[in-house]
Amino acid sequence: MSTPQFPTMHADARISFPGYRWPEGKRCAVNFTLDLDAESPYFWVGRQAKAGSLGELEQRRYGPRQGVARVLALLEKHGIKACFYVPGVVAATYPDLLPTLIAQGHEVAYHGYFHERLDTLDLATQKHCLAQTMAVFEAQTGRTKLGYRAPSFEHDVQSLAVLREAGVAYDSSLMGFDHPYTIDGQVQIPVTWTIDDALYFRYTNGPRDKTHPANPAAVLESWIEEFEGTRDYGGLCMITVHDWISGRGQRLRMLDKLLAHIAAYDDVWFATPQEVADYHVASENAAVFEVTAQVGNFAPVSA
Ligand SMILES: [Zn+2]
Repeated sequence: MSTPQFPTMHADARISFPGYRWPEGKRCAVNFTLDLDAESPYFWVGRQAKAGSLGELEQRRYGPRQGVARVLALLEKHGIKACFYVPGVVAATYPDLLPTLIAQGHEVAYHGYFHERLDTLDLATQKHCLAQTMAVFEAQTGRTKLGYRAPSFEHDVQSLAVLREAGVAYDSSLMGFDHPYTIDGQVQIPVTWTIDDALYFRYTNGPRDKTHPANPAAVLESWIEEFEGTRDYGGLCMITVHDWISGRGQRLRMLDKLLAHIAAYDDVWFATPQEVADYHVASENAAVFEVTAQVGNFAPVSA
């Protein structure tokens, strides 16, 4: 009987990288992003069943009705340009949304059509959803080849190629570095669950709830620590919030304090993800932080 040979997980063996080089005078970057989901995840998750919970629907509709305007006012107060990731169906439902965001100087970008999780779809369906989303954005804004954020921060190993073939400017969904990198030829502006309001405040009185909403004072302390740690190590601090979750008074007050804390530093580059992506591809970083999404031939080995 032969000894089983276990393959490696993939072919990239590097365990050491230099520090990321930010623009002159800056030691880290911060992006403020809002995933403008409204009701779309509710319909996607429950697409096999009758959408019957008016309680959750109304909670989510609060986002486009009131939450977005309040976040926009907060951003204006701090003089910050943000990126809004919008599912195609949300843009189609609220035709004034994308033009309003653009008129205020913010970036808009794709977030699936129906907030579909890419790792649950075949490639043909992934392509169809992306094409439909891009068509809505082009019809409403005239803009093409914008950035993308995968719903639920999830891809499969082939979906980055779908984005690249469609000419998507960058992706912002993964966590393989804590600063920009390139994966399968696609610029990646990484995210972090640590600063995602849904983990702390999402509550719909349903089976997906983990606990009651968190104390915003404790969350503020945690997010400031995440920002400070990212600044210490020269990374990208990605703030991710949602229209229907952070557009409420308690969280807006917390975000106001967070943004004031960050504004005290003059060595922090507050930019949009598209600005960071443009910087990345034009900088020496692009050739250094380049990886693939490949997985090895890691089939089970029988003895
Ligand atoms: Zn989302």
